[in-house]
Amino acid sequence: MRICAVIPAAGSGNRAGFAENKILHKTGGTVPLFSVVSAFAANAQIATIAVCIREGDRAEIGKLLARFQNVVLVTGGATRTESVKNALEAFATEKTPPDYVLIHDAARPFLSQKIIDDCIAAVRSFGSAVCALPCTDTAVLSENGFAVSPLPREKLYTVQTPQGFSFPELLSAYRRIGEGETFTDDSGVFAKYVAPPRLFEGERTNVKLTFREDFFMQTFRTGIGIDTHAFCDGDHIMLGGVRIPHGSGLAAHSDGDVLIHAVMDAMLSAAGLCDIGHYFPDTDPQYKGADSIALLKKVRRLVENEGFCVSNVSAAIVAQRPKLATFIPKMKENLADALGICETDVGITAGTNEGLGYLGRGEGITVTATTLLNRIG
Ligand code: MG
Repeated sequence: MRICAVIPAAGSGNRAGFAENKILHKTGGTVPLFSVVSAFAANAQIATIAVCIREGDRAEIGKLLARFQNVVLVTGGATRTESVKNALEAFATEKTPPDYVLIHDAARPFLSQKIIDDCIAAVRSFGSAVCALPCTDTAVLSENGFAVSPLPREKLYTVQTPQGFSFPELLSAYRRIGEGETFTDDSGVFAKYVAPPRLFEGERTNVKLTFREDFFMQTFRTGIGIDTHAFCDGDHIMLGGVRIPHGSGLAAHSDGDVLIHAVMDAMLSAAGLCDIGHYFPDTDPQYKGADSIALLKKVRRLVENEGFCVSNVSAAIVAQRPKLATFIPKMKENLADALGICETDVGITAGTNEGLGYLGRGEGITVTATTLLNRIG
């Protein structure tokens, strides 16, 4: 039993509005085409994976997919229909052509191994297998901007990929396609020239990345920041923008708000920017005694300029003294205000170091902070 896959990736993806082909646009730490090929390569039932490409993308895609042994790059056509036909014809020239072929959109990177397995099981039973989901929205037929008739929702499905077919049947269907005739997917080709294809239920997470905002929905970034300040002469410390009376202060060029410094570094790190020392150098007189809340607002702006907003912040303070519990609610309020998030999106904990080391001896305070950024632009 030989089962192969075809990934049409020769489109321009221009509805997403990126400079490059959308399937090569990095999203959530990886590129869609890489995720798709990786999923098929990880499935032991799949022999060869044919990726249809534009010649202009050959060098980049070749490099991206170099680690996968069973990938072949096929020159695509002007339309999806032509691209898939080229791949099927390439398979037809092999010494052992496939028995079944699975076709999957390069812009659906979240497919699971279960979907691939379900598609294979269905195509082996029925000769065709089209991934589809029951319609959840009401659908209507529109004419000239008016909803002329509601459609029976219980009979409506939205069609996804993968779609699996008997290879000889799909190949013969493609060879019968008329001049200039195009289809949006392979289920249409099969339905017209062979038979209505069998549906199997897909997954809601198997979404297609089409528009720019589809990519941003998937992009989260985490960051970590750590800061330490030593105690010095003084009568208070600043922590989370709260003035806390204490027998000593924290040595610093700014107001020494070690909590906010750790949070700022976490945010800058998550956005791939430099650390706070780069933006607010301690050699610069304008930051002498600086209000760290004001600096935090500047960091928020820097991160937003990179296209991110803060989802949440979490910080752990380690201090042998002073006792901090009663000040934490006000710290949360200050951070939430500066970052434009809810107080419930700010987590602050405080603990001692059980008497161990410089923290245990009460020589200073260390804070570790993490944050999650969400891409918004
Ligand atoms: Mg600092």
